[in-house]
Amino acid sequence: MKKLVSVLAVTALLLTGLTGCAAGKKKSSPAEVSVPEVTKSGTVVILATGGTIAGVGEAGMTAGYEPGTLTAQDLISAVPQLEDVAPIEAVQVCNVNSDDITDDVWITLANTINEMAADPDIAGFVITHGTDTMEETAYFLNLTVKTDKPVVITGSMRPSTSISADGPMNLYESVCVAASKEAVGKGVLVVFSDLIYTARSVTKTSTYNVMAISAGEMGASGVVRDGAVYFYEQSTRRHTTASRFDVSGVNALPKVSVVYFSVDADPGILTYAAKNSDGIVIAGAGAGEFSEEYISVVEGLKIPVVISSRIDDGIIIPSNLLCDNTIAADNLSPQKAAILLRLALLETSDTEEIQKMYFEY
Ligand code: ASP
Repeated sequence: MKKLVSVLAVTALLLTGLTGCAAGKKKSSPAEVSVPEVTKSGTVVILATGGTIAGVGEAGMTAGYEPGTLTAQDLISAVPQLEDVAPIEAVQVCNVNSDDITDDVWITLANTINEMAADPDIAGFVITHGTDTMEETAYFLNLTVKTDKPVVITGSMRPSTSISADGPMNLYESVCVAASKEAVGKGVLVVFSDLIYTARSVTKTSTYNVMAISAGEMGASGVVRDGAVYFYEQSTRRHTTASRFDVSGVNALPKVSVVYFSVDADPGILTYAAKNSDGIVIAGAGAGEFSEEYISVVEGLKIPVVISSRIDDGIIIPSNLLCDNTIAADNLSPQKAAILLRLALLETSDTEEIQKMYFEY
């Protein structure tokens, strides 16, 4: 009790002191505090693809809705504040649940952005997208768009008709980032619930809550607060203008299957995948490990096999590999390792050359 009383007394003293100090000191004028401003640097193009952000359902409810229903124009009309940030142009690319995104949509997005980015009046791009696969679209575009202009992907966890829908704020903050000079040259970004993530690190970590987008142990790169954009970190890996991958003349990507390992997993799945794919990614246990049965099948495979992990965080390096004919995915998740392999296979199927790419991109 005595201790509690003295803690309270000290707290009261501190508070009095602080209040007195603040009252006696001149408040910082805005000129003394450097707050990044929203820069009206040009038009922001919103490319809509569907997802929950365009979802409509029973008023107030968060599940059981129809994703990919509202149009790009509907999304823009719901956030009149966008006009204060930048002139907006809308492009409806498709309107689907993001589990139905295909390589065709990816290639269309990359080529559309690459063509439009040549227009000096365009400052940046925002793609509205379902959250299930936004990390895949983000990483694909990070490797294939050829511009320094900001490309931002966003979505929402709650449909437009729910209580406290998160789509409008996510769209507003994404347009702020896309219009911001701070975001130039940072590669493709995902903006979600006030945070900015790099395409390489971002992932979905919850099936339902509004903080479903994260970057695990790599963390966020920046913050958006009342329209101001603050960056703290950036990717060290090759992206956009420094990437070797070019899909301008490509109609379809090579096929890569992801095979998940678990106790007693049937290695016949590997044989099936190998027969029907140009490459395989294995989501192994721990640092990319799997059973003796798996090892004997993997050793006989004649197509590139990349080893990733079913664990969210951590890296896989060549010394972790159980089979000499395989490639370590570094810290790419199985779904992102598959994207890099699909792009690599456009150029080569040489294991050593592909291995180098995993430590570059
Ligand atoms: N199933 C939805 C989608 O990815 C989920 C979402 O957008 O949050 O399209």
